[in-house]
Amino acid sequence: MALIDTHAHVQVRQFNSDRKAVIEAAFAVGVDRMVTPGIDVETSRAAIALARQYPGRIFAAVGTHPHDATTLTDEALAAERELAQEPGVVAIGEIGLDYYRNLSPHETQRAALVAQFGLARDLDLPIILHNRESHADMISLLRSDGAGLRGVFHCFIGDIAMARDALDLGFYLSFAGPLTYPKNVELGEVAAWAPLDRILVETDCPYLTPTPFRGKRNEPRHVALTARRLAELRHMSEAEIAEATTRNAEAIFRLPGASTPTTTPDQPATTGATDAPSKGV
Ligand SMILES: [Zn+2]
Ligand SMILES: [Zn+2]
Repeated sequence: MALIDTHAHVQVRQFNSDRKAVIEAAFAVGVDRMVTPGIDVETSRAAIALARQYPGRIFAAVGTHPHDATTLTDEALAAERELAQEPGVVAIGEIGLDYYRNLSPHETQRAALVAQFGLARDLDLPIILHNRESHADMISLLRSDGAGLRGVFHCFIGDIAMARDALDLGFYLSFAGPLTYPKNVELGEVAAWAPLDRILVETDCPYLTPTPFRGKRNEPRHVALTARRLAELRHMSEAEIAEATTRNAEAIFRLPGASTPTTTPDQPATTGATDAPSKGV
């Protein structure tokens, strides 16, 4: 059983002392691929370096987080445009709005988000959205400026009406550690209800550690706890959830090794010409 952690910040300083061990511990328990989003230019560059170090297993996303929206100068946006064309980059993210912590003015957050919509559209990449206490503005910006974009509402928190807004725009819902917190009943209802072909799992490590490890640093291997909770809520097996969420992650991020049929039985298969990873499909 293999899982993809679709949102793991393994490049950040919280992992400086044991990054390799953390990544390999995840691989060892079947979390054999992950997507590592940037939060600014520097962490986007670091994510690409990890993608280069673990090709086919770690994929990078390039973006500036709403907390850091004031750092997205024209120069930074140009740097992102270059970085996003590096090998191993599968998305623009994480980008979005955060009206809870309000670390950048709302106007600046909206401008940074729309600028990065443009980048995603130009480069034909999906977007990874951070959306906290900002749902109405997020949906209205996607409707006004997001035509043709696809992507993920990362660490989805909300009710069925909010989930429906995201799904209607063609987006995926990614569930993180909060799904395992007993008081999040409404979120559990969303997870049980959402279409099977539009759900993903993630850790958002080092943050949002699932039960029973709350209070400790989160790691990619813990994505299995969120997948298990998702299986319980949907009355499915963990293997079925792993298979569906892996297929969905491969589809939205267009990961190599995606289980799309490439040859018909009559055609001879080409040998030695695949860029798929040898393990973990
Ligand atoms: Zn986020
Ligand atoms: Zn994040």
